[in-house]
Amino acid sequence: MDVDVLVVGAGPAGLMLACELGLAGVRTVVVEQQVQRPGFCRGFNLNARSLELLDRRGIADRFLAAGPTVPTMTFSGLRRPLDLSAMDTDHPYVLGIAQTRVEELLQERANELGVPVWWGHQLIDLHQDVDTVTATVDTPTGQARIAAAYLVGCDGGRSTVRKLAGIAFPGTAASRYTLLGDVALADPTALPFGPTITEHGSVFVIPRPGYVRLITAEPEPPSDRDAPVTLAYLQTVVDQAVGRHVPLTEPRWLTRFSNAARQAERYIAGRVILAGDAAHIHPPAGAVGVNVAIDDAMNLGWKLAGAVHGWAPATLLATYHSERHPAGAQVLRNTRAQALLGKPDDRFAPLRDLFTEVAELPAVNKHLAELVTAVSTRYPMHNDSDQAHPWLGRLTPNLQLTNGVASTSVAQLLDAGRAVLLDLADQPALRATAAAWQPRLTIHTARCPEQPELHALLIRPDGHTAWITPSTGDQIASLHHALETWLGTPTTGGTVDVL
Ligand SMILES: Cc1cc2nc3c(=O)[nH]c(=O)nc-3n(C[C@H](O)[C@H](O)[C@H](O)COP(=O)(O)OP(=O)(O)OC[C@H]3O[C@@H](n4cnc5c(N)ncnc54)[C@H](O)[C@@H]3O)c2cc1C
Repeated sequence: MDVDVLVVGAGPAGLMLACELGLAGVRTVVVEQQVQRPGFCRGFNLNARSLELLDRRGIADRFLAAGPTVPTMTFSGLRRPLDLSAMDTDHPYVLGIAQTRVEELLQERANELGVPVWWGHQLIDLHQDVDTVTATVDTPTGQARIAAAYLVGCDGGRSTVRKLAGIAFPGTAASRYTLLGDVALADPTALPFGPTITEHGSVFVIPRPGYVRLITAEPEPPSDRDAPVTLAYLQTVVDQAVGRHVPLTEPRWLTRFSNAARQAERYIAGRVILAGDAAHIHPPAGAVGVNVAIDDAMNLGWKLAGAVHGWAPATLLATYHSERHPAGAQVLRNTRAQALLGKPDDRFAPLRDLFTEVAELPAVNKHLAELVTAVSTRYPMHNDSDQAHPWLGRLTPNLQLTNGVASTSVAQLLDAGRAVLLDLADQPALRATAAAWQPRLTIHTARCPEQPELHALLIRPDGHTAWITPSTGDQIASLHHALETWLGTPTTGGTVDVL
């Protein structure tokens, strides 16, 4: 085996996964077909969920230093933005940060953790058998074969890995196309920022440092969606939409995107796994693609590490599909709903008015904000019941903890990428049970003044609550079961190494 995991694609999904695998000591290589990161930038934001996840690895500050935060976000079709300050999160805002900067920071971190990115390496074929995946890769010095225990396709919406693995990609085909131009306006006052709507069409102008991003509907679906968008063509469409000539210059990036929505039928096919856009594509409403890619990678990383290191129970890796496939389906549902609601069609105006009114109800605003930013993500748990604690399956809140000598927080305890048993009521018997799972588990005894009634929690490496002291029954047996479910069979005995 040349590596434990071969990651294909150095976008947000591949790089975040590289960080997670590097942290877990998994021998990983990322191959990227481009020779360097391109000059254009697709996305420009990170949402609350991404920042929460990055916080649980101690690196959110690197990202927060890179841009401004905004406490509102657009929900396509609503006449007023959603108020994010109502969300249950440490980060009730959107961070304005270029996707290219996100990628640079993730690559920096992956390199710090010993994971290299091999630029100019394109996967062209793969073959898997019972215990190996062999990839054929075009490299700057010729073709190479790389053998790995697992291969993860983080290679974007047109994923070669997905196709080679024979994974179906059902969904709805594109019916509308949108043109995007990163350009300069010869006369900067010719179009205002935001929407310009006329009887002929509309153009949306987003200010960017040194240029503007123009977005306008393509009048007819193109006969070849891969045909390059030229400045002359964009010029014609923009002029038609605004009903006058608005000279455009200095094209940086001209492209088109569609409203297609598709999702891989399986996220795992033997030793081949998909993450990010390779697993799901959706209309760009809400600007969430980078964030979902990071989310997929954070869910997958520790499970894959467990499989590579040999401690993962047989069922663990499969939970990547059973947890992230429904999360992806939810993204498709809400982005498609936004695309419909935001359709530039006057017949939809009464719907927009009605939804705008309803979304102003505080509970609806909060629900929508937590839905589109994935703050309300909850995974089904082995110990679910009608009486389950509301935190079960959700990201554990970033509780502040003290043991009289030092203070810490849930996010800090998760920095190492290991599961955490939080003993908040000084229970030696619980600690002794959990000790057998060290070093996969950090055991921490402390008090949590903000949650005095809480006795103990098991937190998965990705920050989700896996177990909370049950109010009835045998606590030790139920903790034992939770530990086996998420961390496999115990290592032998051992003393309790309390942080
Ligand atoms: C116009 C536009 C605006 C957007 N704005 C936002 C936004 O504001 N916020 C947001 O969150 N999302 C936004 N998105 C979505 C976001 O850009 C994507 O969802 C995100 O990049 C997905 O990350 P990924 O890592 O899964 O895939 P990608 O970023 O597509 O990365 C895949 C990588 O794999 C490489 N690759 C492909 N095939 C191979 C191969 N065979 N061998 C080796 N390497 C390969 C590619 O070169 C690429 O670098 C936007 C998208 C578009 C098109």
